[in-house]
Amino acid sequence: MNLIDTHCHLTFDDLVCDIDAILARSVAAGVIEWITVGTDLQECQKAIELTERFENMYAAVAIHPHDAKTVTADTVQELKKLAQRRKVVAIGETGLDYHYNFSLHEDQRRVFAEHLKIAAEMNLPVIIHCREAFDETIEILKEYSAGIKNIVFHCFSGSAEQAKIVLDKGYYISFTGVVTFKNARIKQEAAKIVPLERLMLETDCPYMSPEPMRKQKVNEPALMIHTAKFLAELKEMDLTDFAEAVTATSRAFFALPTTEPTNLTPPTSLR
Ligand SMILES: [Zn+2]
Ligand SMILES: [Zn+2]
Repeated sequence: MNLIDTHCHLTFDDLVCDIDAILARSVAAGVIEWITVGTDLQECQKAIELTERFENMYAAVAIHPHDAKTVTADTVQELKKLAQRRKVVAIGETGLDYHYNFSLHEDQRRVFAEHLKIAAEMNLPVIIHCREAFDETIEILKEYSAGIKNIVFHCFSGSAEQAKIVLDKGYYISFTGVVTFKNARIKQEAAKIVPLERLMLETDCPYMSPEPMRKQKVNEPALMIHTAKFLAELKEMDLTDFAEAVTATSRAFFALPTTEPTNLTPPTSLR
């Protein structure tokens, strides 16, 4: 099985300190490619550096909505430069987080729009972070999404009704381990209506380990296999067929190279 973890934060302290072992476990579990997401300029830089060490790892760059208040014109210029690096495959995560409200809504909306402009200019797909701000996210996308090739709502936490709106716009939906939680009925109903050609998987690690590993404090890509199993079962599908389909969707979404990965074992010698 060849799965792609389309959204992880491998540069965060809990993961990067043990990256070789974590990637080895991931490959052993069948999760053989990763998109590591930078959340501020420093993390984006670190993400790009990490992708230079591991052939099957790619990066997404953005300033997280939590940090929208820090974004200046210079930040946008820096981000544009980073977005041009060879292994950057997406702009994200960007969007609106009205749950934590770490930045003013006004700043979040401004920075979200800036990111969408960069994505259109650079011809890159976008990873959306949307928390308790669904209607406004859709509204901003209406205004700025022209020219953007692919858009995914990551860690989807909406209802089936909202999933339908996202799908009708032609966007994609990605699920984390949260969909496996016992109290995740609404998200599970949403997952049921997402066709495999619009569905992707992610861990969003180090956060939110899936059931039955929920007690594992630091989530890691290997555990994505549990989310895959859960969703395959929910869709009454064979796991291998399910995996093949979502991997094809992810590969096309991010325009990842289709050649068979040659370098599956992380080169420990490079540490
Ligand atoms: Zn997020
Ligand atoms: Zn994330």
